[in-house]
Amino acid sequence: MTRFVAELRMPRVVFGGGCRRELPLEVDRLGGERAYVLGSPEQRDQLEECLELLAERGAGVLDRAQMHVPRECVVAARSEIEQARADVLVAVGGGSAIGLAKALALETRLPIIALPTTYAGSEMTPIHGITEAGRKRTGRDPIVLPRTVIYDPELTFALPLPLSAASGMNAIAHAVEGLYAPGVDPVTCLMAEAGIRAFAAGLPRVVALAQDADARAECLYGAWLCGSVLGSATLGLHHKLCHTLGGSFGLPHAETHCVVLPHACAYNYEAARGAMAQVERALDARYAPRGLFELACRLKAPTSLSDLGMELADVDHALDLALQDAYPNPRPLEREGLRELLQNAIQGVAPS
Ligand code: NAD
Repeated sequence: MTRFVAELRMPRVVFGGGCRRELPLEVDRLGGERAYVLGSPEQRDQLEECLELLAERGAGVLDRAQMHVPRECVVAARSEIEQARADVLVAVGGGSAIGLAKALALETRLPIIALPTTYAGSEMTPIHGITEAGRKRTGRDPIVLPRTVIYDPELTFALPLPLSAASGMNAIAHAVEGLYAPGVDPVTCLMAEAGIRAFAAGLPRVVALAQDADARAECLYGAWLCGSVLGSATLGLHHKLCHTLGGSFGLPHAETHCVVLPHACAYNYEAARGAMAQVERALDARYAPRGLFELACRLKAPTSLSDLGMELADVDHALDLALQDAYPNPRPLEREGLRELLQNAIQGVAPS
């Protein structure tokens, strides 16, 4: 076993069908008296339900969270939570809702209780981000790590099936890159492999029946594990590429991860054989890139960037951007290899 340093900081986790009803107890546990509920407009019903559950501890609700946390959204939300004299932030939703709560926590140091409704995993990380003048800046600060995470699978019943599939593949990407991250510790690797296995079992059942409570629970368990990997490992090519494609070509977050992952794995395959063997074990596949591609096909999730709006003519610009910064990756970054990766991802070619 090679040398490693492990720093696994986890929030308190409350997990199970219907456990959102324990929200008021969790606010009490943090010594809170005025909890403010935050989320996206599409989830107004779930936000209202949480406010109702909070009863006299509820200080208000705001439904203006947006993808990538625009600065103006944070400024407006801060004014509202200050007027309401909130002492706890309750984020209900996916990475957008939790991202807004994190940006507010960074400024106000208020504690966060997160109720995740996607599989993106932001609730398990100290990573925050804010978008200003078209540029997203990210950082890490333990103050933004939620104090408590309430995983209630019932909150994910309404997650649309295409988004369930793409969000699950997005979470698997955290685990895959965690497995070959430099200096990764063995506990994080255990979580990564178990997380991929949970999604490989749960996602096909969710896609067959959106309200399959066991399958939804299995996926949320996977989200917890894969999110924890994201929180503790340094990520490589796959995440940087998706970040570039999302930021510069306006591609949707989870779907982009879903398409790029098999091709990023094919690029890294020979340089990360140990990690790939773990992915293969978790997926019960003979070749990890192909196993991931076939899982996406089985879930009817996107498999080509051209379906998401990217064209072959965009490749050179994308390569320029992807090669601008150095970052750790098992295989060195080579323009021609990356060109092949992007061309295959745009055309949706199955890795072989
Ligand atoms: P999202 O939070 O943007 O949600 C996508 C859409 O699905 C929204 O309209 C939302 O209202 C809706 N939705 C979510 N859950 C639902 C449910 N259960 N029922 C019905 N509708 C539902 O999507 P996401 O993929 O979770 O988050 C993406 C964002 O999170 C990106 O900005 C990404 O950069 C960020 N992110 C951050 C981290 C981190 O560690 N900081 C980790 C992962 C993702």
